Order: sequence, then C-alpha cells, then structure tokens
Amino acid sequence: MNTPIVSVRNLVVNYYTFSGVIKALRGVDLDVQHGESLCIVGESGSGKSTLAQAIAMILPRNASVERGSIIYDGIDLLKNTSPEVRAKVRREIGMIFQDPATSFSPLFTIKQQFVDVLTEVLKVSPEEVLSIAREALKSVRLTEVDRVLDSYPHELSGGMLQRASIALALAKKPKLLIADEPTTNLDVTTQAEILKLIKTLKEEYNLTLLMITHNFGIAAYICDRTVVMYAGLVVEEGSTKNLLVNPLHPYTKGLVKAIPRIAGEKLTPIPGFLPDPREDFKGCPFYSRCSYATSKCTETPPPRIVLGDQVVYCHLYEGSK
Ligand code: ATP
Ligand code: SF4
Repeated sequence: MNTPIVSVRNLVVNYYTFSGVIKALRGVDLDVQHGESLCIVGESGSGKSTLAQAIAMILPRNASVERGSIIYDGIDLLKNTSPEVRAKVRREIGMIFQDPATSFSPLFTIKQQFVDVLTEVLKVSPEEVLSIAREALKSVRLTEVDRVLDSYPHELSGGMLQRASIALALAKKPKLLIADEPTTNLDVTTQAEILKLIKTLKEEYNLTLLMITHNFGIAAYICDRTVVMYAGLVVEEGSTKNLLVNPLHPYTKGLVKAIPRIAGEKLTPIPGFLPDPREDFKGCPFYSRCSYATSKCTETPPPRIVLGDQVVYCHLYEGSK
C-alpha cells in the first residue's frame, strides 16, 4: 500500500481560554492518500478546522498540541518545526477558507497580496509572480484578470474573491489543497459554481484534496472517501458511496438524513447538542443524542470496528464481521 501524504495519529489538541480548557481534538487518527479527495464531515464544533489547521501548521496561539503525531510527506511536523519545514509546508499545502477575506487583507490590492505571498513562498521576482498570478486567475475562470489584480478585496463579489483565493492557493502548485467550508458564505448558485470549479481543478492540477464541510451532500458530490467527526473524535470513515448508502454510526445516519434534497433547502438538524467541549466523557460522546444507546455506551469508549471498507466506532457493531 502507498504511504499516505498525511498521517495523523492520536492527535489531542486543546485551546486554553478564560472560560476553561476546550478539548477540540481528543485523539484523532487520519490518513490522507496521495491523489484522493477526502472529506471531513461533522457539525460545527466537532474539530474539523482544528485538525486542518494542525496539518497546515497554522493553529492559533492559544492552541496546544498535547499528544500525537502528524506526518506530512515523511516528516513529523510536531517534532520538526524548523523554518525549512515550515517553508515546505507553506509552499506545498494550499488553504482555502470559509471566508475568502481570511486569505486577503482589506488594505492592499489583490496584486500586492499575490506579490507579497508568492515572492516569499516561491522565491521568484515580482514580474514572474504577476505572470503566475494571471495564469492562476485564468485557471479559476476569472475574466478581466488585470481588473481583478488591481482591485481591493471589497471591490470584488464574494464569488470572485473566493475564486481569487483559490487562485492564490493554486499559484503555489500545492501538493495538498485543504478547503475549509469554502462555500458556506456564498449564495446557492455561487456555491454550486465554486464546488464544480474545485472538483475540476483537483483533476487539472493533479491535487490531493482535503475538504471540510458540515454538509454530507457536498461530500457526496466531491469526495471519494469521507471521515465523520464528532466532539473531537472520528466516529466513522469509508468510501463516500458506502457511507451514503449504508451509514453505520447513528451520527452518520443522522447526517445522511440531513442532506438537503432540493438545492437551497435547509439542513434538517439532528436533535440535541454536542457535549460541552470542556468536559470529559467516559463512554461514547454521542450518547445523549443516540436512540440506540445502552448503559454500556455511557461507561465504555466505543470500540474500533472494521466492516468491509468502513471503520466505525460504536458498541452496536461489537461481534460483527
Ligand atoms: P466550525 O465549522 O464551526 O469551524 P469545526 O468542526 O471546524 O467547527 P473547530 O472550529 O475545530 O470545529 O472547533 C472545535 C472546538 O474548539 C469548538 O468547541 C470551538 O469552539 C473551539 N475553538 C476553535 N477555535 C478556537 C480558538 N481559537 N480558541 C478557543 N476555542 C476554539
Ligand atoms: Fe449510540 Fe452507543 Fe453507538 Fe454511541 S456507542 S453511537 S451511544 S449505540
């Protein structure tokens, strides 16, 4: 079997805040294979962005990695934080964020920001950056490329700015593209266009794609494989097709049921709430929302069970093969 481009093991990340310690990741395992499109699905607060930021080495200052390992391209990123490794990660991992304004400062034109980022990352001259930027902006199907380059972020529509942020990420020719809820802030029509674009660019640029979303419908459209997260833990993973047709974990079943059937329809929420991220739990984190729960589920952590290409963490499947 091929070595994964990213391999995360038993990753525990806390945030230190005035209201206590937030346990964002409680022991996550994840492999991202070269060339695949992998989705991480889960509702808000399940730890998806924290996992992505840990891989891209951009965790905020109040985050602390307490345990575990993140191997990227054979390098342990938690043990080796040298400037060379940081530069490699910055060059090879492209990020697209939910809010494209995260990629661009409001104070400078798009051109200035392409030049600032890419001269540093690619070590090329400003003239070369401009030619790379023009190509990247064309590749995200933006017309009037020079007008876009001369604009300030607020002069572009949300969809145009998200395309420009995708171009900025792609201009580095990254090996891995991480897209963190890239369509959540856009209107329905633009969402569909951006998703189609990401899917096409994945093939054109021969990328490995790690897509983060709370919407299983997006995973169904874009990803070969899906990992479902809940309360800082992975609860199920497998091929997206199998998870859609035969979800095993009760939480995955809820997410699949919540997929909007008509474009623009609102998600049907799963009743109940995530556990308090400051609390510890002995058993299954989904206990309070699960209609299949037994007393064992409160006391004992769910076992890891492999069923075909699916991996599920749930007491329901003990003894199944
Ligand atoms: P969302 O889609 O809302 O971003 P998520 O699944 O990506 O949710 P995270 O953003 O990783 O989840 O958040 C995991 C937990 O960590 C949540 O309880 C969140 O409130 C908390 N958290 C995230 N960032 C910080 C931070 N900078 N400081 C304190 N707590 C944080
Ligand atoms: Fe439900 Fe128990 Fe499975 Fe958790 S371990 S999802 S509570 S049946």
